[in-house]
Amino acid sequence: MRCYTHPACIGHEPGATHAEQPARLKAVTGALREAFPLLPWCEAPRATRGQLLRVHDDALLALVLDTQPDRAMSLDPDTVLAPGSAEAALRAAGAGVAAVDAVLSGQTRRAFCAVRPPGHHATATVAMGFCLFNNIAVAAAHACDKHGLARVAVIDFDVHHGNGTQAIFDTDPRVLYLSSHQLPLYPDTGHANERGVGNIVNAPLPPGTGGEGFRKVWRERLLPVLESFRPQLVLVSAGFDAHRLDPLAQLQLEADDYHWLTTELVASARRHAGGRLVSMLEGGYDLTALAQSSVAHVTALLDD
Ligand SMILES: [Zn+2]
Repeated sequence: MRCYTHPACIGHEPGATHAEQPARLKAVTGALREAFPLLPWCEAPRATRGQLLRVHDDALLALVLDTQPDRAMSLDPDTVLAPGSAEAALRAAGAGVAAVDAVLSGQTRRAFCAVRPPGHHATATVAMGFCLFNNIAVAAAHACDKHGLARVAVIDFDVHHGNGTQAIFDTDPRVLYLSSHQLPLYPDTGHANERGVGNIVNAPLPPGTGGEGFRKVWRERLLPVLESFRPQLVLVSAGFDAHRLDPLAQLQLEADDYHWLTTELVASARRHAGGRLVSMLEGGYDLTALAQSSVAHVTALLDD
């Protein structure tokens, strides 16, 4: 087990009143370093243009990497490109690529990427929902294209639906996408009838759903699909904004619910994927909840 991060991920500054603050990442890395002083940390490399182009088009790369704004500019009402954003986005996507390489080469079995900006809303062509590049999609495409995997599972328990990840892979049967999320809520996708080529399973949850309802949909609907898919690698879009303290949504999870699901995912990875699992930070906007939930998640990733 190891973690990836990079100081440049702190340098993406969408503005003092923006929910997706640099302080989020400091809360996560601070809590993990305190809880697990022996956990090894690796510096995330930059993703290459070739790695990004597996899932994004040239125009999005040009927008994020070549604009070089001298102050923060809004790409949409939620999404900001600031002077430090290109480097942060490259390191965030690069963390997932490096983590996939590390677990598939046997250097470690599991990895957690403490990075920002988050990624799962970014589509092939559009940066949106705080996301510039789709970090988990870049990692999944790398696992398929570079390493030749035929079955990669992306598990997304962020409170928002990962519309970008779903859209990038909804015609690619090599990638299974499983998501629980609140509906109605931004981006208002992720209805149960969105099935891709049979490789997409969405479990929308009504506002107010707590740990019991969350565990029930994973136990009864989503985890059985993961089990039949027999993933060669498990990737996780780990957003912690379904926590009851989160200001952006109305689910009612506790940190222990993240520990429970992560334990299930590790067990599945052990049965099918040689234990190989790479998790990447997505959302989570209450700093206390985010710190506690990250520690719960990594506790379960560490368990052997
Ligand atoms: Zn989210």
